Amino acid sequence: MPKIMPKIGLEIHGYLTTKEKLFCLCPTNYKTAIANTNICPICTGMPGSKPMLPNSEAMDKVIAISLMLGCKVNNKFMWQRKHYNWPDMPKGYQNTISGAYSIPVAEHGNFLGIGITEAHLEEDPAKWDPVSGNVDYNRSGMPLIEIVTDPGFLSADQVAEWLNNLLLTLSYIKAVDPDAGIKADVNVSVSMGKRQGNRVEVKNLNSIDSIKKAIDYEIKRQSRLLEEDKRIVKETRTYSDEQGITISMRSKEEAADYRFIPDPDLPTMEINKKRIEDIKKKLPELPHKKVERFIKEYKLDDYTASILTSNIDIANFFEKIIEKIKNVKLVSTWVTIELLRILNYNKKSLHEVYVNPEHFVKLLNMIESKKITELAAKRMLNDFIPSSFDPSQMKEFEKIEDKSEIDKICKEVIEKNPAAVSDYKKGEKKSLNFLIGEVVKASGRRADSRSVVPILIKLLKK
Ligand SMILES: [Zn+2]
Repeated sequence: MPKIMPKIGLEIHGYLTTKEKLFCLCPTNYKTAIANTNICPICTGMPGSKPMLPNSEAMDKVIAISLMLGCKVNNKFMWQRKHYNWPDMPKGYQNTISGAYSIPVAEHGNFLGIGITEAHLEEDPAKWDPVSGNVDYNRSGMPLIEIVTDPGFLSADQVAEWLNNLLLTLSYIKAVDPDAGIKADVNVSVSMGKRQGNRVEVKNLNSIDSIKKAIDYEIKRQSRLLEEDKRIVKETRTYSDEQGITISMRSKEEAADYRFIPDPDLPTMEINKKRIEDIKKKLPELPHKKVERFIKEYKLDDYTASILTSNIDIANFFEKIIEKIKNVKLVSTWVTIELLRILNYNKKSLHEVYVNPEHFVKLLNMIESKKITELAAKRMLNDFIPSSFDPSQMKEFEKIEDKSEIDKICKEVIEKNPAAVSDYKKGEKKSLNFLIGEVVKASGRRADSRSVVPILIKLLKK
């Protein structure tokens, strides 16, 4: 039997991080606002209301994303009305730059080997609850980007890996709301030898995990139909997370006719070359390029380089530190292990706290010059959240060099732990480690275990 060949394409939606909605000045904090408070006649589609000029911040963000995806940005495009009747869209149509007669914002891109058919901008409908019938218009009119790929993927795993890279890349320009997650429609078709099955669309998937499972399910379902010589119906399906299967919604023959027409209330958009050039200049280095450069420039291993570049703020922070301290091992360890440890512990991202790179440099300098122990440095770093301080001013963290002071602490620890002392004297090596730990702890982690050991052993012999 000839081999089954899947072909997969994606339509990805993301919320753009703008302060205002697309055609009015209502704020976009739809998650924290009380229902139906971020609204006006425009975004609730009141009769007679007309849209304002499209939000230029949203336009710039779509252009920035398109450029990162290697697209050609078109300099002229028109807004379309996509008609449908549903409670989430009272004016009866959605404004979009997609549709039968439109020119997309950008097209012909390529991102990590997959062709980008087009990218465009549109407004989000309201949130409608089919059970209660309630509609919340806070979301209505929020700017959405839609990215359409060519059907260039061959497997669900490839899609998942690509999407993870896409999300990381989008996070570098902070243009798409990461908390809103990813929403996608997936097109899947399979062929076997000369036989090509019809294309099936699975709609409204909202996590990479669901996308992966839906694709795997469809490939299996369609392959079986081809093998049994049955017809694959061209249709739209939905994926049920609970059942782990896709279910038919409607066949393409009865697909909605959106009656696209150009919107007479919105002008033809012209984007001049200078605007595109200015946006291009401000784009950051792409994550996969950054990984390659980090490996080459700083001689980092793949794993450390990928951790450092998995967040642009961390990557930038690392580069600020490495400018001042040339010890790559020390800097990469303290950024990827220690700094990330305290950020994770506090459930914060770097941009949510204040860690001055100068303070971090001083801290690492003090470790390098052995002015403080590593343990004391870790303790100090814990206190860097929510805001850092000049570590050289913190005398209480400084390493104890004075032998008589260590001697005093050792004596106290010996006195408090008679059982461990007698075990040690009986030849239990573990007890020594325990006692060393106790001394280090009692010193506020300012005593270095290397200076503790000889003093402690000497005292134990008495
Ligand atoms: Zn509004």
